[in-house]
Amino acid sequence: MGVIKDILRTMDYGPSPESSEHVGVWLEEHKAGFGHFINGVFTKPSDLFDVFNPARGERIARVSQGSPADIDAAVAAARKAQGKWAALSGFERSKHLYALARHVQKRERFLSVLETIDNGKPIRESRDIDIPLAARHFYHHAGWASLIDSEFPGTKPVGVCGQIIPWNFPLLMLAWKIAPALAAGNTVVLKPAEFTPLTALAFAAICVETGLPPGVVNIVTGDGATGAALVADASVNKIAFTGSTEVGRTIRKATAGSGKKLSLELGGKSPFIVFEDADLDSAVEGVVDAIWFNQGQVCCAGSRLLVAEGAADALYAKLRARMANLRVGDPLDKSTDVGAIVAPVQLERIRRLMRQGEEEGLEFFRADDSVPDRGCFYPPTLVTGVDPASVLAREEIFGPVLVATTFRTPDEAVALANNTRYGLAASVWTENVNRAFEVAARIKAGVVWINSTNMFDAAAGFGGYRESGFGREGGREGLSEYRIADELKSKPNSSRAPRLNASPGVSPARNLDEGPDRTAKLYIGGKQARPDSGYSYAVLDPAGREAGLAGLGNRKDIRNAVEAAAKASSWGAATAHNRAQVLYYVAENLAARQSEFAQRLSATTGASARAARAQVDASIRRAFVYAGYADKFDGAVHATRSRFVTIAMNEPWGVMGVICPDEAPLLAFVSLVMPAIAMGNCVVAVPSSSHPLSATDFYSVLETSDVPAGVVNIVTGEANVLAKTLAEHDGVDAVWYAGDTDGAARVEALSAGNLKATWASAATIDWAKTEGREFLRRATQVKNIWTPYGE
Ligand code: NDP
Repeated sequence: MGVIKDILRTMDYGPSPESSEHVGVWLEEHKAGFGHFINGVFTKPSDLFDVFNPARGERIARVSQGSPADIDAAVAAARKAQGKWAALSGFERSKHLYALARHVQKRERFLSVLETIDNGKPIRESRDIDIPLAARHFYHHAGWASLIDSEFPGTKPVGVCGQIIPWNFPLLMLAWKIAPALAAGNTVVLKPAEFTPLTALAFAAICVETGLPPGVVNIVTGDGATGAALVADASVNKIAFTGSTEVGRTIRKATAGSGKKLSLELGGKSPFIVFEDADLDSAVEGVVDAIWFNQGQVCCAGSRLLVAEGAADALYAKLRARMANLRVGDPLDKSTDVGAIVAPVQLERIRRLMRQGEEEGLEFFRADDSVPDRGCFYPPTLVTGVDPASVLAREEIFGPVLVATTFRTPDEAVALANNTRYGLAASVWTENVNRAFEVAARIKAGVVWINSTNMFDAAAGFGGYRESGFGREGGREGLSEYRIADELKSKPNSSRAPRLNASPGVSPARNLDEGPDRTAKLYIGGKQARPDSGYSYAVLDPAGREAGLAGLGNRKDIRNAVEAAAKASSWGAATAHNRAQVLYYVAENLAARQSEFAQRLSATTGASARAARAQVDASIRRAFVYAGYADKFDGAVHATRSRFVTIAMNEPWGVMGVICPDEAPLLAFVSLVMPAIAMGNCVVAVPSSSHPLSATDFYSVLETSDVPAGVVNIVTGEANVLAKTLAEHDGVDAVWYAGDTDGAARVEALSAGNLKATWASAATIDWAKTEGREFLRRATQVKNIWTPYGE
């Protein structure tokens, strides 16, 4: 009787373990170790390392460490298979993806248990979230496979994709990578994380079962060195990576100049903002899903709680009460809320950060400190009164630790939310719809959940702003990462031609203080400015005669221009109609001075009068095209979960660096600058070094066209030198570069600092034909805002 009374009093659950029998049999069958999955078969196990169940600290399997030779073999298999796979009809590819979806779904229970044993996450999560979402991804992309030709005209598959995934959502991340790649006609080599390779190997068996052609999916297990070998493989066409910002940066540098396409889904320190008018009980449940889901080992975890001062005490009290009900323990138990941390090294990382927090004198709350004696466990923790400068507010902890700070006003909430180098996600809690959308619009993050958190769906893009990476996964946005334009441009420019004369920079150099100043100046913040160096350089015509002088810009001029561009950021908030009007005005004013521009082009480039006129005509038309696009490059409402509106908004990057090529100096300048500003970016443009004068003549067009000061800044000089400063500058959010191979490689490598997005080309581009939506897509990043509806 006493026992029943106790149970009624505590309403505690009895044990409810999920059976691991089938998984146990499968692991036993592979006791000798797993090989890689290359060209449709498993290789002989070799160079084995142990895989552990982190909840028990027991070894559960041994898998092979992939060598560079294994990577070579896998890439060769993928290469061989790619042509045929891409040549299949969309319908045929669709059937393969559909079969993968069906088989993942059929094995949901097996895969959930395996995931839980391998990763330590509660079975409730692997069973209800990870594996169903993985199946949903294959279903969704089975649809895309048959639509890709009609929905992505003028594009083709990228080729062989190297894909590297982390340990926090092993099968789900595999699905996020493999499903879109295959749907778009690519083949893949995937490296799962060292800690959690098992569901990927089970998936390989599913590929065999469904009759997927050999070589379409290859899986090579191993550690970071295996990942690095995949990144380095010269015949891989694209790298898709999810993991830490640090490794993302390494990969950005390693792929620079290789021509590989790259998408990076990196870390985060996402804010969870609770306003005073929020439904606090719902917000508490939101916090549970935000930070204690998957033990907080989630890139988009709502790990920074920002709460309105007036609501803080009430919210903390409710949170503490709720924490007392969280069950930490055996992940295979169906009533466990918080499972095991993936590995001892991750547990130690969490402990180390907590020790640092303790040294800072922070206040920790744990409802119950006790965790199972065996395995890697860490109790749910709330840290309040955290200063934004604290290590715990800045660093990605990747554990079940919530750090809380209060704010007084919505402006302060937004400032705190954006006070991070990351920008992956945010969650906003308020019953005021106006405030919710205003805050969502102002937060710099790729995903914003209103009165909800951690919502995912295959139909919506997911990915970050700033140091959380670039590129999206999911839906149409994600698919474009796996396609490239049909027609490959002509051969790369090995060097800019003609170059400005050699070091110490430019010759003939003029000291501007000597004699009268005839130099075309720089254009910064809406004003003509003398270059900081005080020097100009001679712009030569094709016969080698001086056609004029241009300012020799340097790093300081670029810094001033970036500052001016940042100050003009309200341009991004202007209505699209307003921006369109300004762009039309630019076109009109250029048209009014058509002959003057044509003469300048003839004189400086040697183009015939007809060709020069054609270039000016094309520039006017192009300005019209992007003026037209300014209010037509819409976002979307994605069909995701029921009772959710998921709005995908195209937002400008902010400050863009645009380095123009030498060919078609006016048309290339207009073709690059106009789409960037049409989408609301402010630009620092570096015109052709050899033929800068049509860009400097452009100042007066800008001045008479109501382009606000700072929206377009122009710095002349040696393009590759100025490109370097732009690529390194932390205040620049994206860089477009058209020039030579060295310059393109340098821009990509140097962009790794703040992980700015780059679009670098060393090809000779036919500017007369190069325009369209791809420029607008590259001039924007997508923010997905999820809003629930209904009571
Ligand atoms: P990593 O970024 O090291 O790992 C992600 C993947 O990259 C793994 O498959 C890893 O292999 C592989 N890898 C490691 N080094 C290289 C390299 N030089 N070149 C190519 N691939 C490489 O993350 P960790 O697992 O080490 O976790 C460290 C921290 O990263 C966490 O504490 C967390 O803060 C963050 N993280 C963020 C994730 C996210 O989704 N944003 C996911 C995971 C971690 P291997 O597994 O063998 O090391």
